[in-house]
Amino acid sequence: MSMLDNVRIVLVEPIFGGNIGSVCRAMNNNDITDLAIVNPRPTTDWDDARKLSCNAKAQLEARKEYPTLAEAIAGCTVVAGTSARTGFYRDTAHSPREFAQIGLESAKNHKIALVFGREDKGLQNEELALCTHIIQIPSSELYTSLNLSHAVMVCCYEMFTAAGAFHPAEEKAEEADSELRERMFATWREMMIKTEFTHEQKLEHMMMGLRRIFTRGKLTVPDAKILMGLAKQSIWVSDQWKKDTNE
Ligand code: SAH
Repeated sequence: MSMLDNVRIVLVEPIFGGNIGSVCRAMNNNDITDLAIVNPRPTTDWDDARKLSCNAKAQLEARKEYPTLAEAIAGCTVVAGTSARTGFYRDTAHSPREFAQIGLESAKNHKIALVFGREDKGLQNEELALCTHIIQIPSSELYTSLNLSHAVMVCCYEMFTAAGAFHPAEEKAEEADSELRERMFATWREMMIKTEFTHEQKLEHMMMGLRRIFTRGKLTVPDAKILMGLAKQSIWVSDQWKKDTNE
């Protein structure tokens, strides 16, 4: 079982169905699947919710509903309220990145909750009072408030990356070893002489430049072979040309 299975997203009285759908999608992009809605509104546009949830419709259907926030978080140890505003005890807020470390530590063994407020009024002080932590998402001083589903996305993304479950595609080819690298440089050296690319006196200086360029990144075996092949072909063409012009 993943730590992320212990992360519950709680939406308090959300107004727009579209936002609820977008929240489902954002959660599933980040392997988070426990959604609770506190006091859902009778006016919620569930068609919009379904539309915007896209391929996360099952997530939308799997939501749990609770009459109060206290009931939605009853089984959770760490409870993080999210707020764009300062004041109350919001001044001791954590960034989503800082909170991800704290939250995941608890999520190893316990359920934790991230609580999000209404689109128009956010979370009330009595609701924030039930929280053990406050998360404030860094944003422009001129416009601090994010869209509800964007706020959920940022928080879920930080939990997901901190959980370390995702590994970006890596270079599969072997890295060139010193023996291959030196054979390649020797071929380039010969090419530079044969093609008269540089004067004898400048050759070693040029070679240092080439060494710097070709070792700046990770040089793989296929990379070294391409570079060596290019130099060999240039040597061959240069030899041919000299033979032809001497005939
Ligand atoms: N006008 C409301 C904004 C609500 S935005 C207010 O001033 O509180 C809807 C919800 O998205 C918020 O309740 C909060 O849960 C989340 N949110 C939006 N911007 C945020 C931010 N910068 N940091 C943390 N949470 C944010």
